[in-house]
Amino acid sequence: MSMTTDLFGSMVFGDSVMREKLPKETYRAMRNTIKRGKHLDLDVANVVATAMKDWAIEKGATHFTHWFQPLTGITAEKHDSFISPTDDERVIMEFSGKELVRGEPDASSFPSGGLRATFEARGYTSWDPTSYAFVKDKTLYIPTAFCAYGGEALDKKTPLLRSMEALQKQAIRILRMFGHNDVSIVRPTVGSEQEYFLVDKEVYDRRPDLVYTGRTLFGAKSPKGQELEDHYFGSIKPRVKAFMDELDAELWKLGILAKTEHNEVAPAQHELAPIFSTTNIAADHNQLTMELMQTIARKHGMVCILHEKPFAGVNGSGKHNNWSLSTNTGMNLLEPGDTPFENAQFLLFLTAVIEAVDEYQDLLRISVASAGNDHRLGANEAPPAIVSVYLGDELMNILEAIENGSEYGGREQELLRVGVHVLPKFPKDNTDRNRTSPFAFTGNKFEFRMLGSASSISDTNTIINTAVAEVLKKYADVLEASDQFEGDLHELIKESIKNHKRIIFNGNGYDEAWVEEARRRGLSNLRTTPDALEHLLDKKNVDLFVSNKVFSEAELISRHEIMLENYCKVIGIEALTMIQMVRSSVLPASTEYRGRLAEAVRDISEVDNTADVSYEKEQISRLSSLTGMAYRDVKALENALVSAKAAAGASDSAAEFRDQVIPAMNELRVVVDEMQTVTAKDYWPYPTYGEILFSVR
Ligand code: ADP
Ligand code: MG
Repeated sequence: MSMTTDLFGSMVFGDSVMREKLPKETYRAMRNTIKRGKHLDLDVANVVATAMKDWAIEKGATHFTHWFQPLTGITAEKHDSFISPTDDERVIMEFSGKELVRGEPDASSFPSGGLRATFEARGYTSWDPTSYAFVKDKTLYIPTAFCAYGGEALDKKTPLLRSMEALQKQAIRILRMFGHNDVSIVRPTVGSEQEYFLVDKEVYDRRPDLVYTGRTLFGAKSPKGQELEDHYFGSIKPRVKAFMDELDAELWKLGILAKTEHNEVAPAQHELAPIFSTTNIAADHNQLTMELMQTIARKHGMVCILHEKPFAGVNGSGKHNNWSLSTNTGMNLLEPGDTPFENAQFLLFLTAVIEAVDEYQDLLRISVASAGNDHRLGANEAPPAIVSVYLGDELMNILEAIENGSEYGGREQELLRVGVHVLPKFPKDNTDRNRTSPFAFTGNKFEFRMLGSASSISDTNTIINTAVAEVLKKYADVLEASDQFEGDLHELIKESIKNHKRIIFNGNGYDEAWVEEARRRGLSNLRTTPDALEHLLDKKNVDLFVSNKVFSEAELISRHEIMLENYCKVIGIEALTMIQMVRSSVLPASTEYRGRLAEAVRDISEVDNTADVSYEKEQISRLSSLTGMAYRDVKALENALVSAKAAAGASDSAAEFRDQVIPAMNELRVVVDEMQTVTAKDYWPYPTYGEILFSVR
């Protein structure tokens, strides 16, 4: 075995470790729980816990933690040691089945959007045995879901698991009708490509905006940006390479299939793509990836920036969510088949996804909504805030032929019938020819590209899974009641194409004309987070989640509240950071530099009273006027902030942040960025864009 294959999964209590360490009976019970969600008895849990603890101690662990994903969007953990005192004043290392299965973190300071107040003060975590435990930092990590005592979800994993169940149930109903009686498991699979920036830590530390908010709030454009496109897939600098190598090794130890690492479009921007896995595992792994990127960057004297838009005028960072469905029998349900029947099945799942995206475009937009991602969506490097589906011309032609009942393959008078005809082969679009589409079919999966780099992939996948489950349920209801399967299947697909083709757009999503065209088609264009959130509680959306048992109405209301609060808090912190930077450094720097210039004018004139001091004088007057403006603008921002914070209710407050605070921040920024260009470099208090973006050499 090579070093890498030895390394892979070495810190994971995975299947092979379980087979080796667990008694046969216990192992079989565990497999049943993992594969089929069977309840695990406490005596089995006790055996697993002991084996897990012994293995973890071998790997250097002294502590264990239930690891969960509260609504902060990042992960949380509370470490307990294995130590337990004995009667004879010694300690032994203990870990019981109860401790494995259930934990009670002090949950009072995690956001609950009022849920905990409404229901029960405490929350508990419960083991997700489908995502393997692992050892990191001398601690045994147990992936868990986090709920209130009444069972209400307080995290991002619980609804994701529920959505997977809903989807599996409906997909199996469909597959039964295609004769797949051997399919017992259908899982959504996800591969999430992660973009990020690396900057030098010393430079980063001198930018309070990066430190406090993760993005630059000021900064004039640097002379060189990404225009030469010399960074994309360019050679990787040694320091970055060392970081990537260590990151890969650490990820592999945790069983995370980090596959490709390369430079991205913007200077200092990079990407990591893993091999896909089951959704909840992919979500856990993506959280770990983001965390390790940050800790490992620091070890290399760098900082990993995950913000969606750290630099104005430079590409932001996103996350591409590649999504498909696979069965325990090895089928990829979005893989076109070779026979007419296989193709009919493929087309049914394909149209189900298209229909789901059309019906719930607002929810998909909401799933990626955050103050940070608002800077990306609608800006010209990212998918616009309009959700649309890209299929490519070949597949489009097939769907059109079905819809129109048009002639097919040149054969006279023969119409394309689903389940009768072999579809023409269409090339897999692995080249991502249309990079501008937010939801692109890429040959055997869909790639959703609107996610921000910092966000958890759980929300998005919860929504895709649930929306597709809902459409499949509708299809299954029709088809199960049908006595002429093939004909009704054909009609179903045809109707779906007719009713939902408005969501399909194969053109350039960045084109201004698309905004107008999308409006004509009745597609929603929810430009900001508050705009999007207005729709979360629309009846059709509440119905969707409640009927598929993914969210209760109370859970949705709480999430709505938390997202609005988060939006306000993020912008509030940004505004305060701007105010502080301007008042404590930018304005004083201007005063000092103007003083220096005035002094120079006096000194020069003293020596030579005919000297031309027009440069110095013009700089003084230009800077004086900008400084006056900046001072006015900072006061205006302070007022806007006070008013937004005082607004009654989260919705009104968010609207004020959007309509008053952000514009005031933008105005202030324009003035300060211009001040930077007029101020001598030594007097400017902050590293420039050029210094930050090219800081890693
Ligand atoms: P590229 O986009 O570089 O051509 P791929 O399209 O093969 O590469 O894969 C991009 C991402 O999609 C990877 O993270 C990969 O693991 C993931 N992916 C590939 N197949 C599937 C699938 N069936 N389900 C979910 N994700 C997938
Ligand atoms: Mg891709």
